[in-house]
Formats: sequence, structure tokens, C-alpha cells
Amino acid sequence: MSYFSVAQAQSCILEHVSRMGTELIALHDSLNRVLACDVSANRNHPPYDVSAMDGYAVRHADIVEATSGVPVALTVVDDIRAGAMPQVKVLPGKAARIMTGAPVPAGADTVIRVEDTKDDGDQVLILVPPKQGANIRPLGENLRNGDVVLSKGMEITPGVLGILAMVKQKQVSVFARPTVAILSTGDELEGIDEAVDENKIPDANSHALYAQCRSLGITPTLLGIAHDNPIELRAKLAEGLKYDLLLASGGVSVGHHDFMRPMLDALGITMHFWRVAMRPGHPLAFGSTETGTLVFGLPGNPVASMVCFEQFVAPACRAMMGHQQLFRRTITARLGHDIKDRAGRAHFVRVTLSRDDQGYVATSTGAQGSGVLLSMAMANGFMLIPAESEGFKAGDQVTVQLLQGTGFQAGADL
Ligand code: AMP
Ligand code: MG
Repeated sequence: MSYFSVAQAQSCILEHVSRMGTELIALHDSLNRVLACDVSANRNHPPYDVSAMDGYAVRHADIVEATSGVPVALTVVDDIRAGAMPQVKVLPGKAARIMTGAPVPAGADTVIRVEDTKDDGDQVLILVPPKQGANIRPLGENLRNGDVVLSKGMEITPGVLGILAMVKQKQVSVFARPTVAILSTGDELEGIDEAVDENKIPDANSHALYAQCRSLGITPTLLGIAHDNPIELRAKLAEGLKYDLLLASGGVSVGHHDFMRPMLDALGITMHFWRVAMRPGHPLAFGSTETGTLVFGLPGNPVASMVCFEQFVAPACRAMMGHQQLFRRTITARLGHDIKDRAGRAHFVRVTLSRDDQGYVATSTGAQGSGVLLSMAMANGFMLIPAESEGFKAGDQVTVQLLQGTGFQAGADL
């Protein structure tokens, strides 16, 4: 049997995804959500020509000849603060003192920075002639009344949120977030609230998956642990089908397969694939119900479960929430050491990225077994080894997918 490649599995999943409906939420809750409609400006901003500097509003024709040796003297006829409307027209030979953000008075066409002038009683001496129109922000430079300024499908960043505030959108229409249920399966598992039993395996997946959902802005529901018995498993899976997504980890690798398949059938879940040609994460199953619930059978091994979330579940959730960019960003790095690999499956290697004067360097975080969660905890990237590759040599250029937290760095470049 040939398995889906990572790309085939991703497109199969995305074919079964539909975007969520829309909801109206408070402006301050909208960060990182996706706009569900175009937004037009309801005003001009700035509403009139404003000064970009503290200085003097003048008529350019008056000051073209000014030099520091032979300054031009103008009579100061007004003092305009931000928020005040000018009272006096600037006539030839006159100037108005003006503050940053204050409206440029009629008659004036240029603002001279205060640094390029000298105060001389009720006159001002202009020492430097800037270009006509200098230091003026024209009406509508930022927003033009009626223009579409933000479009449907844009992610709400702090800057976008600032524009929404400028156009007085206290409520914002965004795409809704899917509801997600998380279930861990296995007789050997010990819940976080249970006493430590040396013979059991602590349930990590529920919590790592919870955190991965939270990093997408989704707060999932934890259904707990289903033991490897058909009645309990069926009841928990059925509960999970009330959500938009059900993430069930464990129990889909070979051995369990025969046990799981009839149950999924009985619950009306159509399975689209059971395996993907990747490492870790080979036993990944995906199905859907007629009512639109997406069901992910994630591998039990904690790293495999997390890798599958990043490659398959996160893009599905992002598409449902209206995002256009579904996949984690990749960069090119130099490999710090040799890595051998078997051809046949795409490999996601846990690495840390550092930087030297030639760019990024990727270094493995250690043992790469799919149960070694510690090397996942230390990683800030996945290095991608394509299915056909047999590995790389130290110094080779490799592609690294950035994990969360890598939007920041220790030092500033500027
Ligand atoms: P399975 O896919 O059920 O065969 O599990 C594969 C491996 O992952 C086994 O060693 C399990 O003990 C382990 N495992 C399964 N579920 C979890 C979980 N929720 N947390 C931590 N390890 C798990
Ligand atoms: Mg199991």
C-alpha cells in the first residue's frame, strides 16, 4: 500500500475544510483574528493639511532667498496649537507659529522647522528655505473618506487594530473559531490529576495539543483519557463529534487499527487516509462526518502528535478561521553537522537556530525518537528532509520551519 505524501495529506485535509461563519466581537478581542468584511474609511485622516513639525507656517514665495547669513524676517501673526483652528490668514510677509498636528492656516503653503528659524520678538527670522510644501501632511494622507482601507481576509495585527479604531469600529466582524475536542487514548496513560504510578505513562498529548490550539487562538475542550476498551472509547469519540474538530491521539498505529476502524465506521466517520509518509507522524489518520466534524487520529507518541498538529491540524484550523497563510514560515539555514536519513519518508528534525555572521545555523536538539519530547521542548524549528533525500552534510543549505517564539531574538540589530 502506498501512503499519502505530506503534501497529498495536506491537500486532502484542506479539501474537507470549510471556512467558519462570521461573528461580531469587541475591537480589543480581535487581535490575530481575520476580518470577515471589507472596511471603508468613514472620514479623512488627517481631516485637513497639518503641520508635521513644530515651526512656522509661511508662504514659500516669501522665503526662497533665505540664508543663515541673510535671513528673511516675517511678522508672527498667530500661534496655532494642535486641536485649534487657525484664525488668521497668512498674508505676504507674515508667518504663523504652528505645532505638530495643527492645521496649516490659509495662505501658508510650507512649514519651516523651528530649528531653521530664530525668534526675534514679534518677528521670526527664517534661516533655511525648504522646498515648497515641506513639513505638511496633506489631507487624507492616511485615510480617504469612502476608500476601502482594510479588506476581508486580512489578519488583525496591532496596526490593523489601530486603523479599525480610527474608523470607530468598536465591534469587528471576523470569522469564527472552530470548537476543538482533545482525547487521549490508551490503558497505560495517567491523567495529570492522578497520583504518580511508576508503571504508567503520563498523558502529555492532551496538554501539548491544548497549548498548540491556544497558540492558534483556540481554547479546546479536554475530554480526558479513554482506555482501550470499546465502550469507553466509543462514548468519548461520540462526545468529540459534537465539536468542529476532534483530535484523538493514540490507538491508530498498526495493532490498534482493527479495533478502531469498525468503531469509526459505526460512528459515521468516513476515513480519508490512515498513514502519511513522514517521520515522526507516520500513523496519522484523518476522517470527516456528514455533519462536517473533522476527525484527526494523531499518533500516540508525543512528538509525532505535535508534529502532525503543526503540519495538518494547524493549517486546517487556520483555513477555518479565514487565514490565507496556513503554514508556518520557513527560512534557509546552514546545517551545523551531518545528518543521515533513510529515503522514503519526509523527516521533520527538531533543531535550534542560532545566528552567525553568515546567517542562520541549524543544530539538532538531540535524540530524535518520536517519544523524546525533551528534544521537542528544546527546539525552535523543524528542519525538513524531503522524502527522497538521504540526509545532508555539515554546511549544506537546509530549510527550517520556524516554531512559535522565533518571532523574537535576544539582541536588537539596530
Ligand atoms: P499508540 O499510538 O497508542 O500505539 O501509542 C504510541 C506510544 O505513544 C506509546 O508508547 C504510548 O504510550 C504513547 N502515548 C500514547 N498516548 C500518549 C499520551 N497521551 N501522552 C504520552 N504518551 C502517549
Ligand atoms: Mg495506545
